[in-house]
Amino acid sequence: MDFEDTPEEAAFRAEARTWLDANAKRKTPDSEPARDMMASRDDPESIRESQAWQAKLYDGGWGGITWPKEYGGQGRTAIQSIIFNQELSQFEVPASIFGIGIGMAGPTLMVHATDAQKERYLQPMLRGDEIWCQLFSEPSAGSDLANVSTQAVRDGDEWIINGQKVWTSGAHYSKWGILVTRSDPEKPKHRGISYFIVDMESAGIEIRPLKQITGASHFNEVFFTDVRVPHENLVGEINGGWAVAITTLMNERMSIGGGGMRGGMGFHDLVEMAQSLEKTGERVVRQQLADIYIRTQVLKYLGYRSQSALSQGRAPGPEGSVSKLGYAELLKRQGSLALALQGPAGALASTDARDDGAWQTSFLGAPAIRIAGGTDEVQRNITGDRVLGLPREPRVDKEISYKESSVLAQ
Ligand SMILES: Cc1cc2nc3c(=O)[nH]c(=O)nc-3n(C[C@H](O)[C@H](O)[C@H](O)COP(=O)(O)OP(=O)(O)OC[C@H]3O[C@@H](n4cnc5c(N)ncnc54)[C@H](O)[C@@H]3O)c2cc1C
Repeated sequence: MDFEDTPEEAAFRAEARTWLDANAKRKTPDSEPARDMMASRDDPESIRESQAWQAKLYDGGWGGITWPKEYGGQGRTAIQSIIFNQELSQFEVPASIFGIGIGMAGPTLMVHATDAQKERYLQPMLRGDEIWCQLFSEPSAGSDLANVSTQAVRDGDEWIINGQKVWTSGAHYSKWGILVTRSDPEKPKHRGISYFIVDMESAGIEIRPLKQITGASHFNEVFFTDVRVPHENLVGEINGGWAVAITTLMNERMSIGGGGMRGGMGFHDLVEMAQSLEKTGERVVRQQLADIYIRTQVLKYLGYRSQSALSQGRAPGPEGSVSKLGYAELLKRQGSLALALQGPAGALASTDARDDGAWQTSFLGAPAIRIAGGTDEVQRNITGDRVLGLPREPRVDKEISYKESSVLAQ
């Protein structure tokens, strides 16, 4: 891969920079530190700011750089998207709350939805007018997502949904959710799943916030009691929802490992802090900074590799798992060093702490990245199977019905 801009890329970069200069404020040394996803600022004002910025991007033609033109995007390459994000990182802009919609639900609908569904949902999703959440995990279905038990029963032109989801990020401010359900318990578990689009304002949905160690309530429990979903909101085939869910999960992994959810404090912020605390002369600190720098660079180039594969029309592969694993480890090391550098002041929080507690939030939020979008262990299993060619885990539940396998699991 050639890392210099081609003349076309340089022209695109200049175009992006000009637009950003005209529409956003460049960062200065006094800018507020960037927020990461764990420092969720989900008060109505922050949501409005985030939506207004997404609408501005969309109206300026920058909303979905790689999305096909027919769905409101620019139909540009993954490399151009990277260039835009490199430029964007120099500006003060609101944190994005559209990762689940634009990064995961949108690409899934493009592959599996009907024309009418694409027509209805994609444009307001990309403009940020409607926010989406992901109703996949349940108390007994996380890593083993195919174990979902939330029930969908057909009733004429509608489906009736009963059950519980958990860890649903942003459910409390979303208009739509992508929902996986058990529609046929007599079939083996992967073959009895149906995938729906659900209106989060439907009668029978109750959303209860979960408080995290960071103090934020980024995700929720969501309870469904006789919620009616129109049949036209089914995505893909009845009982064919597993294939649709896999498309979402592939995009989720790419999105987390490949940088879609990055933000927050980074290597340069860490170096600045070490310099201002006069710690850069200490050998152990220098060694740890070098380690973090190397990991940051490796991840950057792994990200470029996946993006080039995508731009050449190849599907996201197991490199998404490697990147996600590496990113989770990087955040852990970076947060630990940051707090160690601060010494006893590392125990402060919020506005009492340096940078308004951004490092504390990053440190406390790091373990969540090891879990969200597939845990470290699951990513290692995928890497073992698909990269190293190790034998797959034995599966005893592939051919028996969900009903039987759920009895065996008890
Ligand atoms: C910040 C955050 C945001 C999230 N947002 C959402 C969301 O918006 N929507 C949503 O649906 N979900 C969301 N999740 C949930 C997330 O997808 C699940 O937490 C994750 O898939 C793990 O599932 P689990 O929590 O049920 O753990 P489990 O699957 O019960 O795992 C428990 C432990 O067992 C290990 N384990 C499980 N299976 C294996 C195996 N086969 N081999 C080796 N080890 C194994 C795991 O690695 C883990 O250590 C979010 C989670 C986090 C942390």
